[in-house]
Amino acid sequence: MSTTMSLQTSVEDAPEERSSFFIGTADSDNVSEEEGHHHQLVLQKANALASENCLREAIYWFSVALRYGPVRPEQLSTFVECILRNFKTIAAGPEESAQIRDNSGNDVFDCPNCHNFLGEAVTVACGHTYCKRCLQRRLLSKCKLCREAVKGGEEKVSVVLCGLLDKWFPDELKKSKTLCEVDELCRRKRYQEAVSLATNVIQSGNDGAQNCNCIRDNSFVNKTEMHSLLLCLVATKGFKQQAAIAKTYRSVPVDLLDASDFECSLCMRLFFEPVTTPCGHTFCKNCLERCLDHTPQCPLCKESLKEYLACRKYMVTAVLDTLIKQYLSQEYAERAKAHLDETKELSDLSKNVPIFVCTMAYPTVPCPLHVFEPRYRLMIRRCMDTGTRQFGMCINDPQKGFADYGCMLIIRSVHFLPDGRSVVDTIGGKRFRVLSRGVKDGYRTADIEHLEDTKVEDSDELERLQELHDAVYEQARVWFQNLKIRFHNQILQHFGPMPEREADIQATPNGPACCWWLLAVLPIDPRYQLSVLSMTSLKERLVKIQHILTYLQSIPNN
Ligand SMILES: [Zn+2]
Ligand SMILES: [Zn+2]
Ligand SMILES: [Zn+2]
Ligand SMILES: [Zn+2]
Repeated sequence: MSTTMSLQTSVEDAPEERSSFFIGTADSDNVSEEEGHHHQLVLQKANALASENCLREAIYWFSVALRYGPVRPEQLSTFVECILRNFKTIAAGPEESAQIRDNSGNDVFDCPNCHNFLGEAVTVACGHTYCKRCLQRRLLSKCKLCREAVKGGEEKVSVVLCGLLDKWFPDELKKSKTLCEVDELCRRKRYQEAVSLATNVIQSGNDGAQNCNCIRDNSFVNKTEMHSLLLCLVATKGFKQQAAIAKTYRSVPVDLLDASDFECSLCMRLFFEPVTTPCGHTFCKNCLERCLDHTPQCPLCKESLKEYLACRKYMVTAVLDTLIKQYLSQEYAERAKAHLDETKELSDLSKNVPIFVCTMAYPTVPCPLHVFEPRYRLMIRRCMDTGTRQFGMCINDPQKGFADYGCMLIIRSVHFLPDGRSVVDTIGGKRFRVLSRGVKDGYRTADIEHLEDTKVEDSDELERLQELHDAVYEQARVWFQNLKIRFHNQILQHFGPMPEREADIQATPNGPACCWWLLAVLPIDPRYQLSVLSMTSLKERLVKIQHILTYLQSIPNN
């Protein structure tokens, strides 16, 4: 009943109504129980006023409620909504450009969790950016935008992003920083200081942001009551989440837009796929990865990025990416084109093909590699990024740098170790001849032409070739069968079993797989291996292998 009555209550007649409560309690035998009852009634009344959007009255009655007893934050939700409805927003200025929103329709400058200005922005591992307050207060265990787990830790603000926010929205940033300090003070239980700081924020907010003018005007409210309320507000988690109501989208002042603010300190170009490290520094994804090939440290502040490297995620910082694409669309288009051209160049499988100078490789034969040198880490990554998944393998040549012939290796899988090294499982592809040599970012490259066996067309000749093949195959089978069990098993482990006899020995430009398997497992000099690799006649190749087998079988106990 009292709730219905209170709806008609104005500020002026409120004190009388309050005095009637006091009379009631004075008459009662059980004071504390009565007070509890009144506390509830006053709270109900305050809430009813708040739901009717009567902010001034609601503030008054909440302060009365506080006199009767504690008010829990969850009892303030209607009140908080009422305050937020009364928030004033500043309209966009005439010289400002278009505002931008993220995929879910939020202002990109807002924290996806509390929907307030990002302020001291922190980019988490998934590439999404939150306000420092939300992260500090452990308000989210999963990213609101991509559901990825958010690990708590030392939150370092994003240097580039904060620099931009400071340039574009200095007042809002200042306010955010102060709110962070309020949080910090609350955490240290220094409530009095927290309250006065929070009061300052609310009272000073005249431009660039929302300000709660109603609270400011309420001079009739006792200061300590106001403080208690503020403290409750600060403690109310719901407060932040409700703030999205009645909000406009921010836009970047065009005269403060400068492409050089989005420059990667490693390549001095516009960020491409910007990633932000846990230490808060931003680089192009590729630039940072190349740095980490050499040492797992931030190139700017030298902080250890071992964990970051081990995750190997390098998620693009969504806010920066959006800003670049939106505000620097022309510069971005040029940068993207340059990147595409570079990718095309790196994808060419006949010109400037990356060459791994290491070991002999043969068509169809597996070749596991342990990659640890920075230049080869880069090479393997490029093979994967461009999608070619191939590179040339050559043995060393003291004069030329690497041999004249080699074999393409196709990457089947890459297993990255936490420190950035990797175990790369490859299998031999086409053979090639080197036409010219070059160097790219530390590793060798070559212009190449592929080698193919000359096909035998004459049927008599082909019949003789088939007979030779069958004879060599049988000889090899016997040799392998009679090999000491230790060697036999070693070969099985490294190169797999001897390939099956093929129905059509001319089916592929490389000829039957058994030849390459034999070349790989037979104990012969690399120069000899190289000469057989370069042959484009199956007959010659079979004859060479036959010679080796015959020689090996002539040695007792081989
Ligand atoms: Zn937030
Ligand atoms: Zn995310
Ligand atoms: Zn860069
Ligand atoms: Zn750093």
